Amino acid sequence: MIRSCIATTLRNRAKTAIRFFVSIVFSPVAFFLAFCFSTVFPADSGIFGSEIRTLEGTYLRLRTDLPSSTEVDGLPAVFDAAVPLWCRFLGINPNRCDGWKMDGCLIGDFERFERAGLVREVPDLRTGFQLNRKLWVLEQASAYYRRHLLLHEGVHGLMAHVFHGLGPPWYAEGCAELLATHTLRDGKLEIGVIPGHRDEVPMWGRIKLIRDDIAAGKGRSLRDVLGLQPGEYDAPNAYAWSWALCVFLEGQPEFTGILGGMTNVLPPGRTTSECAETFNERFYDRIGRDVRSQWEAAWIDFAGRLDYGYDRERARIDDLSPGATRWNGRNHQWRVRPDRGWQNSGLRIQQGDAVRIAAAGRFRLGNRPATWWSEPNGITIRYDRGRPIGELQMTILPGPETSNANTAGDDYSRCPFLNPVSIGTHCEYTAPVGGTLFFRINDSPADLADNDGDVTVSLEKASGNTIPGS
Ligand SMILES: [Zn+2]
Repeated sequence: MIRSCIATTLRNRAKTAIRFFVSIVFSPVAFFLAFCFSTVFPADSGIFGSEIRTLEGTYLRLRTDLPSSTEVDGLPAVFDAAVPLWCRFLGINPNRCDGWKMDGCLIGDFERFERAGLVREVPDLRTGFQLNRKLWVLEQASAYYRRHLLLHEGVHGLMAHVFHGLGPPWYAEGCAELLATHTLRDGKLEIGVIPGHRDEVPMWGRIKLIRDDIAAGKGRSLRDVLGLQPGEYDAPNAYAWSWALCVFLEGQPEFTGILGGMTNVLPPGRTTSECAETFNERFYDRIGRDVRSQWEAAWIDFAGRLDYGYDRERARIDDLSPGATRWNGRNHQWRVRPDRGWQNSGLRIQQGDAVRIAAAGRFRLGNRPATWWSEPNGITIRYDRGRPIGELQMTILPGPETSNANTAGDDYSRCPFLNPVSIGTHCEYTAPVGGTLFFRINDSPADLADNDGDVTVSLEKASGNTIPGS
């Protein structure tokens, strides 16, 4: 029996993100039958020769020349388990899939499929390809990546069937990547995940591609990803960025369902650059143009910290709205949690304001093999992004009117969330730019779940010379 679930977010009335997992238990009988069809009729002895056998599922007929194995023979069942999850994500009534079935080829020896006339429509197959109700996937050295590619092309096939178009490249490939990235444990299929470890997803490599791009100064802004052109998908990096953007959007309670909702404005047929522009304009309308620069910063914080096991619920920035209180020289105090990402103080300061910030408290940063206690200076035996974990950090998010004040460097080297001020137990500081104060305690976004406690942070007028902010 394959059980399946989709990693998704909901917003409750208090606008608090709750990550939850919806599980669907598929009928054991249905799965049993699907598996039986896969194995009872293993070879298509007639038209395509005995080298190519046919595996039948409900939504996939898969022709392959690969030898029989549990992994390969179970692929139609995995595909069938994924379809209802895709439908839910994309807002498709499952009835629309009645009678829909992809004709797939999983190819070990390409020439064998050429001889059988099964790859005539394929232009230049590198990994996978989809056309209408047909898909082709080249055999991979990794069972994970073989399934991934099959699911990726299947998402295209379903969208083409229901919407008659896939949308601009970032959307088509981002959704396909999002809905293909999965875990399959003990017969339970989960899609929409951020893999916990690279060993779970051999050959997938999306996170490494993003990290390498950022390290090379080629980090993509949100508008860069939206503007990716079809030709850029010759390289796997474009898939990685498209995936990451869709993962980011799904992890924000404000945007839950936005990707599925965009199917309402999908242009039919091939997406021209004009269609893509119109689609992207509508996307910007939905995320809110007035806070677009803040979302750019939040996206860059996400992409810049993306890691295996990234904890979307805990690591996301809690509130991007400009601080409601403008600093008038009075003292302020907050509690900052170590199990969260950037936390909005609600206080705005102005360029040139000189402040003293102090922090006190003892908090937990982990419990294996023993409890890791830290104070606001951090623990110097482990580092994240070059700073000790546990270190109290601060940054200023400029308002939309001043967000372009610093134009040196690329979007990632300028992003305030990726370039914080180290506060530790105290710091005197002159604000280089006006905006809202944010605090966080440094730690990997994959390691927040076992953190606990808090730090008391206080702000007052600086008493003497301050460190000028840069
Ligand atoms: Zn694709």
